[in-house]
Amino acid sequence: MSSDGYIKVSKFVSSHDAALVAVSKTRTAGQIMEIYNLGQRIFGENRVQELLVKKLLLPADIEWHLIGHLQKNKVKQLLPHVKLIHSADSIELLSLLNEEAEKQKLKVNVLLQVKIAQEESKYGFSLAELKIALTIYQSGKYPHIVVRGLMGMASLTPDREVVRSEFAGLHKIYMDLIESSGNGMEFFNILSMGMSGDYDIAIEEGANMVRIGSLLFQ
Ligand SMILES: *Cc1c(COP(=O)(O)O)cnc(C)c1O
Repeated sequence: MSSDGYIKVSKFVSSHDAALVAVSKTRTAGQIMEIYNLGQRIFGENRVQELLVKKLLLPADIEWHLIGHLQKNKVKQLLPHVKLIHSADSIELLSLLNEEAEKQKLKVNVLLQVKIAQEESKYGFSLAELKIALTIYQSGKYPHIVVRGLMGMASLTPDREVVRSEFAGLHKIYMDLIESSGNGMEFFNILSMGMSGDYDIAIEEGANMVRIGSLLFQ
């Protein structure tokens, strides 16, 4: 792992690098410091309150990412403290993020979470909704938001071919959007997919950011 949080995945499975988000939800500050001391600087939490508490306790050079569903009443508190929100999952949330970022005079970096799992998952855009959200964004309606890319979670299944095809599907959507090079897409370059159980497949299918918890904190 290099100091910028990128793991050299070439050693394992593939020829490109992926940024590692160390998922520290439910872990103590002491456990996080062990990973920090190895050089890791990007940590991901799925609850706003936990992220804020840990940010206060831990070194200031940690880059905090929110990876879990964001409740609307937590947006205001979260914004000054988060580097990237992986879980922008509705048009209502995007509007609110833009509004609050404007009030706080900052820009908020987000990934649009896309529903790729077959199972009924609660959160994420369908492909049709994603297109609507991007159309609104590209029309300039969210000047305080920077859409940095996409995030997805594969089905929880032992069938690795199902997982692979879901990741491949999201990669295709991601590449199509890059090629369309629409308005506001200058910084669209992050594909966040893969967790402890499936990050190797995700990287093979084009992820450049992986979110790993249990494998790191043992
Ligand atoms: C918990 C979590 C992870 C990490 O899961 P592990 O299986 O522990 O690696 C990744 N992404 C999201 C959105 C999570 O909530």
